[in-house]
Amino acid sequence: MTEHNNCYLNEIYSAIQGEGPFVGIRQIFVRFSACDLRCTWCDTPDSLVRTELCSMEDGAGTRKFHKVKNPLNDNTLLSHIKLLLPELHHSISLTGGEPLLQCDFLNNFLPLLKKRIRLPVYLETGGHRPKELSKIVNLLDFISMDFKLPSSANTGILWDKHKEFLEISLKAKNLQSVWVKIVITEDTLSDELIHSINIIKSVYPKNNLEIFLQPVTEINNTGPPDELKLLNIQRDLLKIYPKIRVTPQVHKLIGQR
Ligand code: SF4
Repeated sequence: MTEHNNCYLNEIYSAIQGEGPFVGIRQIFVRFSACDLRCTWCDTPDSLVRTELCSMEDGAGTRKFHKVKNPLNDNTLLSHIKLLLPELHHSISLTGGEPLLQCDFLNNFLPLLKKRIRLPVYLETGGHRPKELSKIVNLLDFISMDFKLPSSANTGILWDKHKEFLEISLKAKNLQSVWVKIVITEDTLSDELIHSINIIKSVYPKNNLEIFLQPVTEINNTGPPDELKLLNIQRDLLKIYPKIRVTPQVHKLIGQR
C-alpha cells in the first residue's frame, strides 16, 4: 500500500459549516490526520498526529460513530462518504489537521470522488503548503485559506508561503471561490493584520477576495479581542481593503460539533 492509495483520517461526519461565507450549509467533513503547525487556539488536537483508528459516523447526523483502522484506501473512504447521504449535502469539506500533507492521496482520490459522488470539494487549510496545493488545485471548487499571524498563532513567519499559496489559487482552473480566514485574539497585532492585507492586495489587486476576521473562541487561555479592539481593527483594515467581515465560529455558538 502506498501513500497515493491510502490516507490517514481522524473522523468523517455530517455537520453544519460554521465558518466563513458558507455558514449554515450542510457538509460531509473528512478530517485528515496530522498537521505541521501548532496554533495556539487549535480546536482539533486529536487530529494533529496520525492515529491507529478513525471515527466514522454511522449515518448523517446520528453522532454515533464506529472505529475503522487507518490507513484507509480510496474505495473504503468512498463507501463511508456514501453512507452519509451525499445528496443532502452542499459539498465535501477536506479539513484537518492539514489535508495538504496528504496531497498525493488527494491527487488520486479527488477525480474518483468527483466522478462517483458529484459534490463540490471544499478545502480548509492553513494556507502554508503552496507546493502541495499546486498538485491538486485544479481539483478543488472552494478554498478556505488561513493567514497565520505570528503574534497570536505561534506558528512562526509564514508570509511568503501564504503569498505563494494565493498566487497559485489565482491561476486555478476550476476554483469557484477562495477566501482568507484570519483568527484574531486579544494578542493580535494590528501591524501584522495590515501586513496580511497588503500581501492579499498584492496578489488580488482588484480587491475581489473576501477576508474573514474570526475572533477566537476562548481556548487554552486565549480569548478574543474586546469590543473596542475588534471595532478598531475592522475600521483600520476597511481603510485599506473593502471586504473585511467579522464572523465567529457559529457552529460553536449553536452547540454543534
Ligand atoms: S493549522 Fe489547524 S489543525 Fe493545524 S494546528 Fe493550526 S488550527 Fe490546528
